[in-house]
Amino acid sequence: MVRGSSRHTRILDKLGEWAQREGPLPSVFQAYDRLLRLQMEARGRISVPPPALSKEAAFSQLGQGIPLLKFDDLVPPLDWPLAQDLFRGAAGILAESTGQEPSAAAALNEIASDRALLERACGQWYRGQPLTSLAALKGISDDLLAATVQAALFPFLIAHAEMLSGLLNQGVWRRKTCPVCGGKPDLAFLDKERGGRWLLCSRCDTEWLFQRMQCPYCDSQSQKSLSYFTNDQGLYRLYTCSECRSYIKAVDLRKASAEVLLPLERFLTAGIDRQAVEAGYKAG
Ligand SMILES: [Zn+2]
Ligand SMILES: [Zn+2]
Repeated sequence: MVRGSSRHTRILDKLGEWAQREGPLPSVFQAYDRLLRLQMEARGRISVPPPALSKEAAFSQLGQGIPLLKFDDLVPPLDWPLAQDLFRGAAGILAESTGQEPSAAAALNEIASDRALLERACGQWYRGQPLTSLAALKGISDDLLAATVQAALFPFLIAHAEMLSGLLNQGVWRRKTCPVCGGKPDLAFLDKERGGRWLLCSRCDTEWLFQRMQCPYCDSQSQKSLSYFTNDQGLYRLYTCSECRSYIKAVDLRKASAEVLLPLERFLTAGIDRQAVEAGYKAG
């Protein structure tokens, strides 16, 4: 399986091959392609220093349940002019692809131009604090603001995640949030070797090992609450939890015959999201 930045470059190649073979891509893939191009171009301009943590210190920190990367550790200092450009570019793509009013795109541009405000939004988002008051101040939805912040920080986060990957100890973490950035998972996979279940971070694409039967959102281990469904080919699974009514999709790599690029699977499996929502579950 391809990991790191090369995985994202590979996704761009694959989207290009599809468009060549089948003509214009569906709009959601076109938007993803534009956004990922912007992000990978920025990724090429970001170089992060090697981590200050030793392997032993990282081991102990993970053992205490503390993710490796704090917001203030980003780069440091974070290249704010680059983050502003990314935010502006992502705002245009996301506002257009989600059918926002022109006023929403204008509001996001105002945030991009106001560095102090952008820094506040990024810091709050990273720490998992609500963006409600900031979004209300500008008359946009929390979700749109969060998605734009996430898109703007993505190149920085993957640069750090790659640098920190050598410090991850899969045996010592096994929690429901990302060991690098503390983000939530939004996709899972079962490994080819032993069918172990891994989670993929929604923010930095880090992968970490997790329990097969435990909810990655509320930690429930109740056999009565947890279940999963597989599709006909057995390649995809939908894990549900009746305690918190959340679901997570998974790709079973033991059943994969072609190359699987996990970040792209988020979009390829949109049909499973629709089924889960129809069954009364929400994305975790
Ligand atoms: Zn993460
Ligand atoms: Zn749950």
